[in-house]
Amino acid sequence: MSLLEPATLNKLMRGLPSVEKLLQADPMRLLAETLPHDLLVEIARQTLEEARQSIRQEQASEADLRLEALAERAAQKTNRTLESNLRQVINATGVVLHTNLGRAPLSEAATAAVVTVAGAYNNLEYDLESGERGSRLSHVESLVARLSGAEAGIAINNNAAAVFMLLTAFAQGKEVILSRGQAVEIGGGFRIPDVMAQSGARLVEVGTTNKTYAQDYERAVTEQTAMLMRVHSSNFKVIGFTASAKLEELAEIANRRGVMLVDDLGSGTLIDTARFGLSHEPTVQESIQAGADLVTFSGDKLLGGPQAGLIAGKKELIARLKKHPLARALRLDKMTLAALQVTLQHYLRGEADRKIPIWQMMARTPESLRGQATRWQSRLVQVWPTATVVEGLSTVGGGSLPGETLPTWLLALPVPSHETANRLQANLRAQRPPIIGRVERDTLLFDPRTVLASQEESLLAGLEKLTARTV
Ligand SMILES: *Cc1c(COP(=O)(O)O)cnc(C)c1O
Repeated sequence: MSLLEPATLNKLMRGLPSVEKLLQADPMRLLAETLPHDLLVEIARQTLEEARQSIRQEQASEADLRLEALAERAAQKTNRTLESNLRQVINATGVVLHTNLGRAPLSEAATAAVVTVAGAYNNLEYDLESGERGSRLSHVESLVARLSGAEAGIAINNNAAAVFMLLTAFAQGKEVILSRGQAVEIGGGFRIPDVMAQSGARLVEVGTTNKTYAQDYERAVTEQTAMLMRVHSSNFKVIGFTASAKLEELAEIANRRGVMLVDDLGSGTLIDTARFGLSHEPTVQESIQAGADLVTFSGDKLLGGPQAGLIAGKKELIARLKKHPLARALRLDKMTLAALQVTLQHYLRGEADRKIPIWQMMARTPESLRGQATRWQSRLVQVWPTATVVEGLSTVGGGSLPGETLPTWLLALPVPSHETANRLQANLRAQRPPIIGRVERDTLLFDPRTVLASQEESLLAGLEKLTARTV
């Protein structure tokens, strides 16, 4: 509680202007010419309430409480309220699929498709040949099928939704057999056992955390079994004494016992990650080939497209999913469909590694990254003479390829003795666009791999500004 004398406290409180007076003071008066009165009144009230709070807590100086200062603060608050909070940032972390930074950036063509479709009427559900009502899914269905080698495909809101929908559609009130090592939490609270419970399916865990064999599944199949399921462990790795059943073995059991086989791949790549010096991530085509009835994967992980959940598999099963009420509740918006369609076409044209940003980033060679980091260093040498270029590691992220790294070169800026890494990072986050890097042992690190060509100049200008203020 306040240590101020009640008399002093009252005097300061009484000295605060009224809401009306605050609205008439510059620069609020100027804002009032164009903005709704109610909005400004609310912000003025908030500003005054905060001022009262700071008086009570003895944190207010006299200057802070002057009319001009309060009006200035209220105006800043107003501008912040009106600014769009979701904005572009520069990802210099070297994490290619950064879940907090929006995962996969779209290709130029996919981005353009979003803009084209969003700003005009379009044939989202209109068949241009017959002139009749069409299906919004038709725009990606055949692409998913063709690229995965499956009979059919469907795309909905995200992969979590895809898993939930197929469990609800095919396993409600029945049993789903899953290896104990795959009853995982993917992130953001998405836990496979919880999703199953929510869908009304009963989870039957088999095997152990580190070892599960095909016969463990076989023994667990009963009259109640709807499906065998495999879930990609995504964000962790079990190493050492481990075993898991091959998808082919599970397909054989599923076939023989008349139950479904579902493979939740998570990332679900369509191209071989070994091409980029990473270990081989099971592809969607391989899962279909191995005999999975349905395969689910994300649109914005290793596919490199917009947020979406794709399901590839048997025609008859996909047809049932398309008619399920959840398909309507979880359907994709036109902007996402536009981006997804163009992203899938990059694969069809065989240009995914040249056109899709995440693959371009993963294809970068250490030499080229070193060259780029060195150019950054020379550009900054005047303002930041302590800058160096050091070897480092980029990661794939996004729950893909856990523990896998790509060799890279980083621009390293040692934190000056009169500064702190936290303060510098806060400063970088306050830039437009905000710059997000890494810190290791009191050194700011910037990985060229994940910085888009269009953002390079902003990054360097931002780092120059930072040094101008701090070194
Ligand atoms: C990421 C992931 C999901 C969830 O996918 P979203 O597209 O993020 O909803 C589900 N399963 C696995 C195995 C995953 O890796």
